[in-house]
Amino acid sequence: MLIALSKEAKESQINLIIDKLGHYNLTADIYKIDQQPIITIRNECSLSDVASLEAMDFVEKIIPISKPYKLVSREYKKENSLIRVANNIEIGQGGQIHVFAGPCAVENEEQIILTAQAVKKAGASVLRGGAYKPRTSPYSFQGLEEEGLKLLKKAGKIADLPIITEVMDINHIDVVAKYADILQVGSRNMQNYSLLKELSCLDKPVMLKRGISATIEEWLLAAEYIMAGGNSKIILCERGIRTFEVYTRNTLDLAAVPLIKELSHLPIIVDPSHGTGKWKLVKPMAKAAIAAGADGIMVEVHPVPSQALSDGEQSLNFNNFNVLMQEIAKIKGRLR
Ligand code: PEP
Ligand code: MN
Repeated sequence: MLIALSKEAKESQINLIIDKLGHYNLTADIYKIDQQPIITIRNECSLSDVASLEAMDFVEKIIPISKPYKLVSREYKKENSLIRVANNIEIGQGGQIHVFAGPCAVENEEQIILTAQAVKKAGASVLRGGAYKPRTSPYSFQGLEEEGLKLLKKAGKIADLPIITEVMDINHIDVVAKYADILQVGSRNMQNYSLLKELSCLDKPVMLKRGISATIEEWLLAAEYIMAGGNSKIILCERGIRTFEVYTRNTLDLAAVPLIKELSHLPIIVDPSHGTGKWKLVKPMAKAAIAAGADGIMVEVHPVPSQALSDGEQSLNFNNFNVLMQEIAKIKGRLR
């Protein structure tokens, strides 16, 4: 159960509600979402148990929520959330597709600037690039760290594109947030709750990738951590899950797209690069993601994929990215 109070509700009025709930043996937590105080009740209870509270004029509405995740649920908010990334870029506007594109990792100035210019020209709206890379092997390229962030920012400025990059560690949040327009939480960190709690205090969009073996419910509960701490600027990203199939790097779960749309008001984008691990599968799966109702896609692009320091086998070269963008544009009126 969730009680939404008016934005003007005073501390004393909020406490009055908490006291009243205490009389009914109900335990509550208080959150502020976009300045609005929200009280959630931890215990199972029915609307009739708390309906009398609706008589108080600072109680806006009482919303019964059946799911374990509450603030990210469609029950809490019927309209789609729009996540503003830059002046002219809002993710989640039904009917518009946003393409996040760029290399797996920022490798050097020339690589990232050339890629930024190429993806911008082809119609991408956000530049991606990893500076802190979560690599399966400790012997693989780990990223250029702050130097990579600086290069990514520079390339974004030159191409006039906002940037997204991964934050792997609580200790890096400040430096990543200094440069990034969107902070990415990678699949390996989806359940790093201390990282999520810190990101919940930020006033910047966070893109939360689905964990490698996370259920939809676990994923939405991870998003709930970010929302419950006060940051409602969340974009979900389906990037494939681990199954018994080995032809592909992961199994891209496109059913997650309409399911998330039903269960949550948050926007969802799809990453067919990590979702398949094979560049030839990126185009068909990107189009399938759009057909399934995704708000966008995230695609790895590299000037010379065969020479990429990471994920070259799933990266598109500029020509293939152009072809993908032209085909997406045919899905009439949806590409921004
Ligand atoms: C990435 O997008 O660079 C990445 C590492 O993805 P994932 O967390 O989905 O593996
Ligand atoms: Mn990658």
